[in-house]
Formats: sequence, structure tokens, C-alpha cells
Amino acid sequence: MKNLAVAGTGYVGLSCGTCFADMGNNVTFIDISEEKINMLRNGKVPIFEPGLSEMIERNIKAGRMHFTTNYAEALTDAEFIFICVGTPSGVDGEADLQYVRMAAESVAKNMDHYTIVVNKSTVPVGTGDWVADIITRSQPDPIPFDVVSCPEFTREGSAIYDFMNPDRVVLGSHNAEAAEKVAQLHLPLRARIVVTDIRTAEMIKYASNAFLATKISFINEIAAICERLGADVQEVAVGMGYDKRIGPAFLNAGLGYGGSCFPKDVKALEHMALVHGSHPSLLRAVIDINRDARRWAVLNLRELVGGKLANCRIGILGLAFKPNTDDIREAPAIEISRMLQSEGASVAGYDPVAMNNIARLDRNLHLVEDPYELATGADALLVCTEWNEFKQLDLPRVKGLMKQPVIVDGRNIYEPQVMYNLGFQYRAVGRGAALTNGF
Ligand code: NAD
Repeated sequence: MKNLAVAGTGYVGLSCGTCFADMGNNVTFIDISEEKINMLRNGKVPIFEPGLSEMIERNIKAGRMHFTTNYAEALTDAEFIFICVGTPSGVDGEADLQYVRMAAESVAKNMDHYTIVVNKSTVPVGTGDWVADIITRSQPDPIPFDVVSCPEFTREGSAIYDFMNPDRVVLGSHNAEAAEKVAQLHLPLRARIVVTDIRTAEMIKYASNAFLATKISFINEIAAICERLGADVQEVAVGMGYDKRIGPAFLNAGLGYGGSCFPKDVKALEHMALVHGSHPSLLRAVIDINRDARRWAVLNLRELVGGKLANCRIGILGLAFKPNTDDIREAPAIEISRMLQSEGASVAGYDPVAMNNIARLDRNLHLVEDPYELATGADALLVCTEWNEFKQLDLPRVKGLMKQPVIVDGRNIYEPQVMYNLGFQYRAVGRGAALTNGF
């Protein structure tokens, strides 16, 4: 059993810290948000993540999870502090490191014994050294510490499973002993551990996310070509995915990547490359294609409702950036909703778990209670998130409720032939074979 502090009770801090507690460690969570800490103290979980509430309840009962807004309290017995604060996009796509700076300064001012500062936030290459510098300069008296980079690869929606079953754990440090101590914490996971220097560890995270975003933009480019040439991108992806050198993951054509990581991380890597004199032309293309994926939805909706979106009522099925999360950061639904509104459409939306988050962000998006209310009187529906509950809708009932039977399927959850047989005007991404077969 080790004593850990975790700074940041967001998607990463709360999920990873809870998993560490579940592995038998004593974990103190610290956040600058009193609201979040009070919720957690009262047994309420501020985010939706499958399996997380149950795990938190179990570990609070076992006395292994504590919550505070006070760094001194969190650091009292801590051998490690994990920095899991946000690193959002700043000006020109550069990662905004204000929260990391704040956390590093707080650690420096409140530590009273040797502590290993583990950076889990996704940060630009060189940040580990910068954090060490901030801590050294902000300490009232010199106290030894080490910085270890341990980037996080979990996905929202399956964070608990991903943390407990990692493909690898990446550790970067100038001090092999400190890296070894962080490696020991991960031993129960029986994972491959890659130990390297801090800068390389930081780059592994960006390169991994940029590669996955590239796969998504690649298949979306193929989808656009399929539409023109009469091929079916779904089958193309299956045929490609069986090739072990390619693999099936991240080959789903759709409305592009969103969420709190891929968009900001690709932009931050592009920014890093540019300011250091590199030419990130592939990353630029990845970003452009992702923007086009959102435009695809608007173009198809406009065409199918008769050429003009003004005064049309469009219903958006799914608002979260992907299923099994309530995270709406950079969700395609938000961007597309704004584009539709700017053309004069009135937009309504429904999501099984993300409605509260949307209500805070976009007051012009009218929220309804279920998919059938969304369909009532709608000129068109747009599938933005592939929640399972949308796959089994009573489609004849949906059609009967709509003003015009138009569905634009941005996540390819329906079969074109079935939709045409039901009498829908239907568009899916990259399914050109259905288009050229006369539908
Ligand atoms: P988040 O916005 O959900 O949570 C960040 C938390 O940090 C907030 O609760 C905020 O109040 C708190 N915070 C800010 N400043 C603080 C400070 N000085 N001290 C203590 N707490 C502070 O962010 P997130 O999605 O958990 O992401 C955190 C980091 O992990 C980011 O760098 C992100 O890129 C990276 N990451 C995220 C995911 C993911 O699935 N969300 C996956 C891998 C990596």
C-alpha cells in the first residue's frame, strides 16, 4: 500500500486515482473546484464513466479515498503526486499550461519531504523539465523531488477497463530510480512498461493520438472518394482491417474525431512542429479532413430538405462526442448545430447522458426527452453519436412522426437498403454503392 495524491478530479484523475485505490493504495484527491470536491465528499460523482461510481463507493467505504482542496493536506504523507489537470487548446492551438503551472507551484509550496511528481496530463515536449524548473524556483526551502512523465492512454467510456488492462505503461524520467518506483505502482496490472527519457515519453503520447486521428481522417477521405465512385466504405474498412498490418480499430467513417483529446492534441503537435521549424503537412491535412467531415453533414441535410435549411427543424440524435460518455468537448454535434443555426435552422437534440452538459453550453439548442419527441415535426434527423439505443429505434414510428422522412446518418448505424425500403430519404457516410444502385 502506497500513499498517493492526485491533482485534478476530472476524467483522468478520478478514473486513474480510483483504480489505484482499488489496487489497495491510499489516495487523496485534490481539486481547485470546491464544487467537485464537495460532491465527491457527499458520494456524488461529477462525471459519467461506466463502472466508476460503484468503484468509488467501494473504495470510499474501504477508507482508501479522500478528497480535499488543500495541497498541504494532500501532500502530507504522499510518496507520489499525480498531476492530472486539464491542458486545453490555447491561442493558435498551443497547449494552455496554466493549470499545470498552478499545480506545480502548489506542489512546490506545500511539499515537506521527497516526493515523486508524476505528470499524467498530456503536455508539450519539454514540459517535464519546465515543471521541475517551476518547482525548484517556487520552493520556499529546497526539498528534493523527481519528475516522471507517465502519459495516460485511457479512453473516456472505457477508462476503468483501459486503466486496468493497458497495452503499455510509458514512463519517462531523468532518474531511473524514480521511474522504477512509479513502475512498481503499476506492477499489479502486469503490463508492458516502456521506460525512456521525459521528452520521448511526452512525444509518445502526442504521436499516438495524432496517429489515431490520422487513421480516422484517412478513412473519412476514403469515404468521400467512395461516395463519388460507388464503393462502400464500411466494406472497404472491413477488408482493410483484416490485414494485421492495418487492424480494424479507428476505421469507422463518420463525422470525424472530437472530444477533449484528439482535436487539441493534433493542433498542439502541429503548433510544436511549426514553432520548431518543422513542416507538419500531414497533421494539417488530418485537421482539414476532420473539418470537412462536419461540413458533410450540413451539405447532405441542406440537399435532402430541398436546398435551404432556413426555418427547417433539425433533430440531432446524440450530443456526446462518442457513446458511453457525457463529455461534449469538441463534439461534432455542437459544431454542426451551430452551422445549422447560422443557416436559419432551428435545432433540437437528445442524448442519453450528455443533456446537462449541453444545457450549460448552448442555450439555442432545444433539448427534448427522447428520440420520438425529437422526430415529431422534424424536417430531418441527424445521427451524431452512435449510442446503442438509437440502433433499435422504432423507425416506422419515427417516420410517421416526422414532417419529412429525412435521416442523415453521420455514424453509419443503419443499413441503407433497410432505410430506403422504409421510405426514408437516407444518407450515410461513404456508402456510395447504395447511392449508385439507384437510391
Ligand atoms: P478535466 O478537465 O476533466 O479535469 C481536469 C481537472 O483538473 C478539473 O477538475 C479541474 O478543476 C482540475 N484542476 C485544474 N487546475 C488544478 C490545480 N491547479 N490543482 C488541482 N486541480 C486542478 O480533464 P481530463 O479530461 O481529465 O484531462 C486531464 C489531462 O489528461 C489532459 O491533459 C488531457 O489531455 C489528458 N488526457 C485525457 C484523457 C481523457 O480521456 N479525458 C485521456 C488521456 C489523457
